[in-house]
Amino acid sequence: MKEIPEIPLVMQATTMEAEREIGFKWADASVGRRSKIGGKPDLVQDGCRQVCKSCGSEMTFYAQIDSVGDEVCLADVGMVYVFVCFDCFTSESFVQSA
Ligand SMILES: [Zn+2]
Repeated sequence: MKEIPEIPLVMQATTMEAEREIGFKWADASVGRRSKIGGKPDLVQDGCRQVCKSCGSEMTFYAQIDSVGDEVCLADVGMVYVFVCFDCFTSESFVQSA
């Protein structure tokens, strides 16, 4: 299984409309700042080892994408986790929240 070094992703609004969507009134300060490519997934439930449904190879953790704000929130301030098979380039994603 390939492992990608951790590369943090920073949310940056490019319009006023987008700026209004970023941020949470009540969530922890880290929420909204957990997006990254590579490294280890910050999973709250099991699911770290993903097997490719197309070829059976172990999939690589590719990225996690955080909730954006109170209006664009994934379940209970959850994240989308993305895994990629580097043998056949199938991808799989799911949402987890605390
Ligand atoms: Zn595959």
